[in-house]
Amino acid sequence: MEEVRFNVIIIGGGLSGLAAAYTLAEAGQEVLLLEKGDYCGAKNVTGGRMYVSLIRDFFPAIWAKAPLERAIVQEELCLMSPGSSILIRYNDADIASEPYQSYSVCRAKFDKYFAKQAEKKGALITVKKKVDSLVFKDGKVDGVVAGGETLYADVVICCDGALSLFAQQAYLQKPLNPKHFAVGFKEIIELAPETLENRFNLLPGQGAARLYMGDVTEGKFGGGFLYTNKESVSLGLVLGLEALCQEEPRTKAPDLLERFKKRPEVAALIAGGQTAEYSAHVIPEGGYDHLSKLFGDGILVAGDAAGFSINAGITVRGMEYAMFSGYIAAWAAIKAAGTGDYSAESLSVYERMLADSFLMQDFKEYRHVTESLNHKRFFTYYPELAGKIMHGLYAMPNGPKARITPTLRRSVGVRNVPDMLLKDLPKVVKL
Ligand SMILES: Cc1cc2nc3c(=O)[nH]c(=O)nc-3n(C[C@H](O)[C@H](O)[C@H](O)COP(=O)(O)OP(=O)(O)OC[C@H]3O[C@@H](n4cnc5c(N)ncnc54)[C@H](O)[C@@H]3O)c2cc1C
Repeated sequence: MEEVRFNVIIIGGGLSGLAAAYTLAEAGQEVLLLEKGDYCGAKNVTGGRMYVSLIRDFFPAIWAKAPLERAIVQEELCLMSPGSSILIRYNDADIASEPYQSYSVCRAKFDKYFAKQAEKKGALITVKKKVDSLVFKDGKVDGVVAGGETLYADVVICCDGALSLFAQQAYLQKPLNPKHFAVGFKEIIELAPETLENRFNLLPGQGAARLYMGDVTEGKFGGGFLYTNKESVSLGLVLGLEALCQEEPRTKAPDLLERFKKRPEVAALIAGGQTAEYSAHVIPEGGYDHLSKLFGDGILVAGDAAGFSINAGITVRGMEYAMFSGYIAAWAAIKAAGTGDYSAESLSVYERMLADSFLMQDFKEYRHVTESLNHKRFFTYYPELAGKIMHGLYAMPNGPKARITPTLRRSVGVRNVPDMLLKDLPKVVKL
């Protein structure tokens, strides 16, 4: 039987795979993308905020009609203790003006749209097609086996997401450790646009991002998020896998989400809403020191498969890294096609191009952030301390009320605080 050969085969039709397919097809390469889901976007989970400002120029033609939800013009942080919460709302004329830096997105819509754009450029996208294994020839990756069919390519780009099976098969991934992963789970809850805008103090079409820290995860490493979409909110939690599975009290993730939804501050925001979607997914959080090897003979790794996701405390970022790394991987394959050399040495240009980019600079800069954040006091003691201070200031006693300074001193328990701060300051400076 005649061999079916492409310039490039991409495994996975999430943002990294689609960005690679779009870029390769635009450059005239014969590219096949294989996606196991019913359609691109069907199996893809995100919290929901994409920093478009970093990737706008790499895909200039897609944005005008892209199904972006709301431009995020309002940043909010909510510190939760068991019985109270403090909400900080930040409005900034710079962030709230065009071109907007970030948008909320729903992947089921966005990825489907992006796949259409890649197809228009000439990419062949086959859905409901699960790749089973890589094909090797003389030590070089030479294609894939999918549904019993062998398909050949000069280069295979692994874009199969966190826990990439194929980066493992090609011996590119470092040994997996729960410490370096988080798990996220979320609901999309439908609400009328006017209801959303009233509840979040937004003008029509504007969006808000709210992050939660503290009791929302029962003090475990992680946090909650809420992003406003056009006609829904994305509400969810992200927890360190190790904290979720090993720390006491043992809690089931869905129970935590239900508890989160029942908090009065959250219940009021989603009251009357209908849950339209529930999803859960693993997130790589190992950072710079736990990225996979990015290239081998005939193979490249992009997006979550490579570990390109960062938990920077007040944001989880992965979507723009996925799209950018897919774009750069495509260019590495295009360069290799120019010389006909698909060896690891030739494809190492991918790593060199990434090294000079915002992506690798971010990964180096945030190298120690996740481990610095991963400290119980940040999720228990400090949010509770903030709650105690506010209680001291606002609660009226049945008797005379002390001035602000003595109230603060009593709420804080001044003897412990310098000690705690001294212990935690070295961690804080790494954030
Ligand atoms: C709860 C949560 C909240 C997040 N919040 C944010 C956020 O607000 N902002 C942000 O920027 N990032 C966020 N992230 C991270 C971001 O979603 C990811 O970094 C991004 O989706 C990675 O894209 P990807 O294309 O690399 O992988 P994915 O989107 O996971 O795509 C991988 C694709 O490969 C396919 N696949 C897997 N195996 C096979 C196979 N054998 N054969 C064929 N196809 C296969 C899958 O079906 C899937 O479509 C969040 C993640 C989670 C889980």
